[in-house]
Amino acid sequence: MSDKPNAHLAQDQFLTILSREDALARFGAALFPRALASESLALEFALGRALVGDVLAPIDVPPFDRSNVDGFAVRAGDLRNASEATPARLTLNDEVIACGIAPKLHVGAMSATPISTGGPVPRGADAIVMIEQTQPAGVGAVDMRRAANPGQFISYAGSDMARGESVLRAGTILGAREIGMLAACGIAQVNVARAPRVAIVSTGDELVQPGGTLAPAQIFDTNGPIVAAAVRENGGEAHFLGSVPDEEQALEKIMRDALASHDMLILSGGTSKGAGDLTHRLIARLGAPGILAHGVALKPGKPLCLAVCDGKPVVILPGFPTSAMFTFHDMIAPVLRRMAGLPPRNDAKVQATLPVRVASELGRTEFVMVALVEGADGLFAYPTGKGSGAITSFAQADGFLRIEALADHAPAGAAVDVTLFTPHVRVPDLTLIGSHCTGLDLVTAPLVCKGLTIRTIAVGSLGGLAAAKRGECDLAPIHLFDETSESYNRSFLVEGLELVEGWRRMQGIVYRNDDARFAGCDAREAVRRALADESCLMVNRNPAAGTRILIDRLLQGAKPGGYWNQPKSHNAVAAAVAQGRADWGMTIAPVAAAYGLAFLPFAQEHYDFAVVSARKNRAAVQAFLESLRSDESHAALVRAGFTPAT
Ligand code: AMP
Ligand code: MG
Repeated sequence: MSDKPNAHLAQDQFLTILSREDALARFGAALFPRALASESLALEFALGRALVGDVLAPIDVPPFDRSNVDGFAVRAGDLRNASEATPARLTLNDEVIACGIAPKLHVGAMSATPISTGGPVPRGADAIVMIEQTQPAGVGAVDMRRAANPGQFISYAGSDMARGESVLRAGTILGAREIGMLAACGIAQVNVARAPRVAIVSTGDELVQPGGTLAPAQIFDTNGPIVAAAVRENGGEAHFLGSVPDEEQALEKIMRDALASHDMLILSGGTSKGAGDLTHRLIARLGAPGILAHGVALKPGKPLCLAVCDGKPVVILPGFPTSAMFTFHDMIAPVLRRMAGLPPRNDAKVQATLPVRVASELGRTEFVMVALVEGADGLFAYPTGKGSGAITSFAQADGFLRIEALADHAPAGAAVDVTLFTPHVRVPDLTLIGSHCTGLDLVTAPLVCKGLTIRTIAVGSLGGLAAAKRGECDLAPIHLFDETSESYNRSFLVEGLELVEGWRRMQGIVYRNDDARFAGCDAREAVRRALADESCLMVNRNPAAGTRILIDRLLQGAKPGGYWNQPKSHNAVAAAVAQGRADWGMTIAPVAAAYGLAFLPFAQEHYDFAVVSARKNRAAVQAFLESLRSDESHAALVRAGFTPAT
């Protein structure tokens, strides 16, 4: 290796990116075929496991000839001539066979023995007559009003499962039914595929475990819990070993220890270019053949690293949680399931229409998360993309679609297959697409309590309006100021949409309470002072935002420091100012209060709803409008710092 001093440098830069298919093939070839590790488990722990080997019935089930009904055990021949008019009168034998009672007496000619459902058929009897078809005939006798077929209402020994018969095949996944069959033939222990023991390690100096406290620049470890849960969902035994800093010795130790006692090791983070990227270099020392793919043409998920060390898969998932989750499900879950003896996941899919064009990088298989929305004729798949770092895009999405590596986009109007995250789609009862406001949750809360499902997709006012025009939502929350008419929202509506007033929110300038530069001024004066001070940084808003229109009015063409910092939410503005990354910005009063910032009111903004007329009569829309007008919602809005419009 000394003649190739740059070997790992080349690797760091993903010079050899593999296609998804090639990476899967290499990974698979290095791991399979392999013997399935097995273990013997008590039935109560075997649920969901795959059987190793066929199971043969050790006994007959039922173990004896058994009555299926309550009635009398008889000899069919004695009833040959029985009818309503000439019943056969049988003498009762002096025993009653209940469940669990072994018969003692023989059923001789013209006699009968009372028997319960489940009772063993006595010697001599060859049929059971239901009690409903008999008539008591004084002490010790019973009348039979019908002939009986030999064998009627008898389950013969072994008719359910015969001794020696294979009752369950190797590979069967044990559910309640299968466990019942094993119990019925007395089997207490089964040989099942051993759940692969999977060690999970998060890497990164910035990680804190949930429950801890975040210092500046730290984030909570999301991948640890995600991967542990996903491993369990796919038949693995997950052992989360915690997070380790990007520090060579610590990492090497935990990786070695983990591999010694596990069947598989999954790390996350540290695979992209950067100072802390050393996990993949450590893998080379852990066993042969080592790294098989580092860099896969997936989006999200390019930095995925796949390795096999002495027969055990070692995987480094990308750091971004959604990337980690997609690569896990697409590339790792199939391998884990195979090691656990489980069949491939049976993902549910639905057909939908893509309402907007989705660009895609040529040469990379791209996964696009989508939310399903009920349209006039069929489902729409609305991309919820927020970038691979956003965990909430998962919560908002119902599933994902795949754009193949050879396509550079999926056109608007395309029919797409959506793989559902959960097998049952629940298209939401109410869909709001547009601008988000914390007040919205207050108005929808009572609907949620009633069991309605609500989806809000935050795409900004203009995006919402476009969706409403296409009929993809019930309501579009908007706050758009029209310079010409000096009014809000109404002038933006087109035919097919109607305006329902929502609430007013005070927009204003925020700054940190201890910033003396803004003391004692109003919003306009504050901006004048900020513009006069070169060291004073602003935080702006994105161009599609209603708030941006107000900011531009105040700036009158000036572009001070921070102007190009354009986050997409009220909260991001407040966070930037509160954390000192900016000195001032514009946000709404309730958000300013939540972040403990000083607030200089500037304009009362109208947050209203463009209702799609064709959908107005839907029960969920009516329920929303009712809630919007209710005293409870008004009170909640006022408490949160909003002013209901009516
Ligand atoms: P890395 O691959 O380590 O450079 O990480 C890429 C991004 O993912 C960075 O923003 C990390 O902070 C983030 N990240 C890495 N690991 C985790 C984790 N376990 N939980 C949440 N975010 C993470
Ligand atoms: Mg990292």
